[in-house]
Amino acid sequence: MKAVIISIGDELIMGQTVDTNSAWLSARFADIGIMTIYHKTVPDDPAAIVLALKEACALSEVVVVTGGLGPTEDDLTRHALAAFLNRPLDLHPPSLERIRVFFKSLGKTMPAINRIQAMVPRGVEVLDNDWGTAPGLKMKVGKALVFLFPGVPREMMKMAERDVFPVFKSYGKAVVMTEALHTFGAGESTVAEKLGELMRRDCNPLVGTTVSRGVVTVRIRSEAVTRLLARKHLAATVEKVESRLGKLIFGRGEDTLAGVVGKLAGKIGVRVATAESCTGGLTAKMLTDEAGSSVYFEGGWVTYSNTMKTLELGVPASLIEREGAVSRAVACAMAEGALRQEADWSVSTTGIAGPDGGSDEKPVGTVWIGLGHRSGAGIKTRAECFQFPGSREMIRDRAAKTALNMLRLELLK
Ligand code: AMP
Ligand code: MG
Repeated sequence: MKAVIISIGDELIMGQTVDTNSAWLSARFADIGIMTIYHKTVPDDPAAIVLALKEACALSEVVVVTGGLGPTEDDLTRHALAAFLNRPLDLHPPSLERIRVFFKSLGKTMPAINRIQAMVPRGVEVLDNDWGTAPGLKMKVGKALVFLFPGVPREMMKMAERDVFPVFKSYGKAVVMTEALHTFGAGESTVAEKLGELMRRDCNPLVGTTVSRGVVTVRIRSEAVTRLLARKHLAATVEKVESRLGKLIFGRGEDTLAGVVGKLAGKIGVRVATAESCTGGLTAKMLTDEAGSSVYFEGGWVTYSNTMKTLELGVPASLIEREGAVSRAVACAMAEGALRQEADWSVSTTGIAGPDGGSDEKPVGTVWIGLGHRSGAGIKTRAECFQFPGSREMIRDRAAKTALNMLRLELLK
């Protein structure tokens, strides 16, 4: 079964709003084995909407349209639908009453312009909107079942979950199950090389990679006639990918590097501190983005100047003078300083985030990352030098994530 998704709105065409509705709808369709053959985005223009509807109904069995059902002059989807079906718009009194009640529940009276939202092309089914004002619409056009929903993502999602997916649950010839395994520390081509023939395009499960902010994700898509089979094949491929990539994989699904580090630290019962220069607290931010981080995060320092490195972390001024602030020795001393309090593990960053301040010897993107560990015998530190590419923002992001990844690999030992 094939689906087409149409999103409507001038703001989408102008790039002011990103079309998240289509992405979400496609992913949900994939869950139930319905293949989305394309997305189309059109402006709030009846002619363009009619054309998009015509094409979609000719090429697919299910069409979902979002946007343009609002009450204002620029919401033209219902008019376009009436034109497409060649039917008049009739008032649907129960919808008008619902909209009135919706406003009343907010302590307001319904503005007159909202009456248009209760107008429905003759013979079209109305789908109640329990989360906003614009009702949805549903009809059969040829072999295609067409749904129209308001553009507001929350309302659209609630209505689609209620009105669209249950209809097709039993239709799907194939079940699609997916898994995403996240890696850090190797580039996309290295990951692809390790995956080798697993990435062949004629495989089922199909294995692909995507990259986002330094994280290379291996996406696996398994298609089968039953959920059980799809899950079995998916699990077998996940296992193969895991055995090829080993510790490069830090998590799956919604996992983040910081979340995984946190879970590991929590499990072992160790506490972590940060000592940051070029990342300006980003590592601490990532760690504390995770709910429950107080269990394992002790605290951190942002020591940007040399003076602060000396005052707060006890990095000897002479060491900074001799080695430079961006050096192995200073990264190690910062990591050691961060362990003067309660923490068991520390990470430190010192580097040149740019765009200025680079030299031939230490170009922009040079970052030393230190790791400290307090054990019975005392404090041990080590540091590694990295050369990160890209903008200031990218360099700082990679540095913070690399620090977290170094810590992750240590905690795994
Ligand atoms: P509309 O139903 O066209 O009045 O849209 C209401 C609001 O929903 C718009 O102002 C957008 O912010 C949002 N919206 C509309 N279409 C989309 C879409 N495809 N993806 C994400 N947000 C959208
Ligand atoms: Mg709109």
